[in-house]
Amino acid sequence: MAMCQVCRRTLLAGERYRTWRWARRDQTVYVVCEPAARDAGAIRIVDAFERVQVGGLTRHVRRVA
Ligand SMILES: [Zn+2]
Repeated sequence: MAMCQVCRRTLLAGERYRTWRWARRDQTVYVVCEPAARDAGAIRIVDAFERVQVGGLTRHVRRVA
């Protein structure tokens, strides 16, 4: 599950994010929080937006009856 490392909010399906690097780690940042990430000294390491994929969980639900 993707979480924005700036505001700690869990990203919802379909929301866009990009990967930024700071504190020597690659961090997931929601598109709205990118200015805050830049102000914090982060460096964007990808150009393309990624999108949170829909519903990985339902795939693992198994019917037992
Ligand atoms: Zn955020």
